[in-house]
Amino acid sequence: MVPGDVIKRFRVKDGDKFRLADYDPGDTLGLDIEKDLAQQLLGAGVDRLRGLQEQLYAEARWSVLIILQAMDAAGKDSTVEHVMSGVNPQGCHVIAFKAPSSTELRHDFLWRTTCALPERGRIGIFNRSYYEEVLVVRVHRELLAKQKLPKKLIGDNIWKERFASIRDFERHLARNGTAILKFFLHVSRDEQRRRFLDRMEEPDKKWKFAVGDVAERRCWTDYMDAYEDAIRNTATKHAPWYVVPADNKWFSRLIVAAAIVDRLEKLDPKFPHLDQDALSALERARKQLESENGKAGSGRGNKEKEDSSRA
Ligand code: ATP
Ligand code: MG
Repeated sequence: MVPGDVIKRFRVKDGDKFRLADYDPGDTLGLDIEKDLAQQLLGAGVDRLRGLQEQLYAEARWSVLIILQAMDAAGKDSTVEHVMSGVNPQGCHVIAFKAPSSTELRHDFLWRTTCALPERGRIGIFNRSYYEEVLVVRVHRELLAKQKLPKKLIGDNIWKERFASIRDFERHLARNGTAILKFFLHVSRDEQRRRFLDRMEEPDKKWKFAVGDVAERRCWTDYMDAYEDAIRNTATKHAPWYVVPADNKWFSRLIVAAAIVDRLEKLDPKFPHLDQDALSALERARKQLESENGKAGSGRGNKEKEDSSRA
């Protein structure tokens, strides 16, 4: 397991002084470990996560919202696959947000994600999120025009206003029992290029390659500026960002798993406590089940008896 003080290095709780340039996408904290060891370490994190998730589900008080943001090919999908691999699917759901539909565009920009928030006791993973509204929409300003906002509301302050809306929204969620973790999988432009080339070459990966992604690379600097400004304006104590070095997938998975475990441990979910009445009822039910054992006939036989007495 990765210790909590290591996680701290990647956590941004106060965006004021945040500079993306201070974070190296290739960082592995000097670790250069074998694939097997990385898998073992991740396995320990995943096991711990599985246990904590069961308690979270049983307690059904807290919700956990995990937001994943990244450039293409940074590893969002495979992070979810590996980190959440052991978690009971009943207690966890992943939702990918693509370009908004016409119905979604008829609502405010937080509407569609609000409808998808996790219930108490559940973990909800947003693969992209309302942050796209200050990222892709900012980089491609023409998208804003499609949002049918009243014209006089689209001013120079629109991004500042969106940041304020997001901060207020996340504060509201936190006040109502949603623990929020936001991950920016920070991949370098070079590594993205390598991964795109891999996708083109490997028969099983070709389908993942989208021609449009190459065009999007041209806007790399604009995206990095937009990410930096978004993190600066929305990193808070109750909804921190984790800027995760993502050039090495084994490392980014370890950090994401450890950050989620760290947060869940702090929530400290507990299996519900049974009071004396509940324990007595349980004891009566146990005796009843035990007394059935050894009585004439199986469950099926008893059912047949009941049926024939009814006839
Ligand atoms: P992958 O490429 O691994 O399948 P992805 O998340 O990139 O995952 P795509 O279908 O390739 O999925 O892309 C989804 C696109 O939808 C992204 O380009 C993203 O910027 C865009 N998108 C998401 N939310 C919004 C939004 N609110 N407004 C406009 N575009 C959005
Ligand atoms: Mg894509």
